[in-house]
Amino acid sequence: MGKVNFLFIYPDFLEATRHIKTIPGNYNEGIASISAVLRRGGHNTCLYHQTYMPDKEGFIERVKSYSPDIIGFTVRTSALDFVAEMAGWLDEALPGVFVMAGGYHPSLAPDEVIGLRGIDAVCLGEGEYVTLDFVDSFAQSGQPDTKSDSFWIKCDDGTICKNPVRPFVEDLDTLPFPDLDLFNIRRLKSNATQNTAEVIVSRGCLYSCTYCANAQLRNIYPDKKRYTRFRSPENAVALLEKVLEKDPEIEAFNFNDAILNMYTDWFYAFTALYKERIGKKYTCNLRFDHLDEKMARELADSGCYLVTIGLENGNEDFRKKYLKRVMKNEHIIEVSHMLKRFGIIVYTYNIIGLPFETLALSLETIKLNARMHTDNVIASNFFPYPATEIRRIAEEAGFLDPSVSPHDPVQLRMPNYPRRDFMYVKFGFLKLIRKYRKIYQKYEGDDLARRIARLDGKIMGKRHPRGLIGAVRRRRHLMVVSLKRNVSRLLPAIYKKLRARSIKSKA
Ligand code: SF4
Repeated sequence: MGKVNFLFIYPDFLEATRHIKTIPGNYNEGIASISAVLRRGGHNTCLYHQTYMPDKEGFIERVKSYSPDIIGFTVRTSALDFVAEMAGWLDEALPGVFVMAGGYHPSLAPDEVIGLRGIDAVCLGEGEYVTLDFVDSFAQSGQPDTKSDSFWIKCDDGTICKNPVRPFVEDLDTLPFPDLDLFNIRRLKSNATQNTAEVIVSRGCLYSCTYCANAQLRNIYPDKKRYTRFRSPENAVALLEKVLEKDPEIEAFNFNDAILNMYTDWFYAFTALYKERIGKKYTCNLRFDHLDEKMARELADSGCYLVTIGLENGNEDFRKKYLKRVMKNEHIIEVSHMLKRFGIIVYTYNIIGLPFETLALSLETIKLNARMHTDNVIASNFFPYPATEIRRIAEEAGFLDPSVSPHDPVQLRMPNYPRRDFMYVKFGFLKLIRKYRKIYQKYEGDDLARRIARLDGKIMGKRHPRGLIGAVRRRRHLMVVSLKRNVSRLLPAIYKKLRARSIKSKA
């Protein structure tokens, strides 16, 4: 065969958007990086970037048009159902094509994915060089090598060959830059609607938050040391230069790394080069316990205008016990105010519906955001990702019901946190923050404590129509989302201006 035609299939949509054909897609670093390695190895790669669920005929026709020898699905947990359906279609229509799956979900739940009809193999962990070796061998023999490192492969005798996971690539500089040509860059959501490029210059994370798939991925490798790796500052900046070369309209970067300033020395060396050679605005993810005044100043000086920081829950003891996040609320508030003094916009990640959460605990999260003067929040529904510690906690407590759809926003069945309260918090999060913030700004001492207790009591009171309020807010939220989607599609220039203005007004 000589070289292989490798087709990546990237289901980049959610259950709620599976029928909407107008939403632009997102960048995927894993696909781009594996593609770069395969191309450097002399193989052909192409991408079927799905921003909505195709019908069976359209899907098969499209796949055939690429004439693939091997197909690789990238599978996140919420896309598992879609992949299962499409793999079944491939099994019927193209039984001779080898189909593999990779990504977070197959790495953490390989049994589940290899059990799907139409999936011939799963790749666990980082896929660049193990996929290249697999593809090289396939190109030579026309057969899958059932002894391939990091692969679980269905064998002819019906058994599954489970091979050990190969150690990860220690030096990220040895990887080629991701294959950006695979994507239609100008049509990616961040590029098209915000002139922002999504980039990643590291892998892994030093922490072990119980709910995070990233923390669990470390455990699949034989050697867990040095799991958290960064490209060298020089190499990271060279990557950004390449991105700018590909898309000169880029005005800002969005660093998707777990924590951009994980290693202090690296961060200062990187920002020095970034200021000199890139000079664009940027956003990144940080942790409160990695920030002091010097760091905040450097962030601002180097162009950082917005940071997103994991708060997750507002109760210190709860965070420590169930999430393994040890941070003091007073420190979180201090850091948030400091970032804002340097002109940096602060967004927080929050999780709703965690095991053992109650309405009172959700209100603590809301109140902490109010005291921090958070500019905006990302309030995510809790999801018990496979192999995570928090999933085990939920399971042991009897909160997991196997009949619950993975697309249900309320994943746990907890008597002390009914769906009504979940919806009330989810769709009133920002509004409630504003309500509490007004009180924190206006009152002090006993007066403040009394007023906060009064509002808490009203919200949690038996007669407060939380179900009705949640339903009305949900409906309004869906209308706003749909309106924004249409404006961004039909009037992209206006959408960009409105978005920039909304971010500025928060600064
Ligand atoms: S710090 Fe962030 S990326 Fe790291 S384990 Fe915790 S949630 Fe995951």
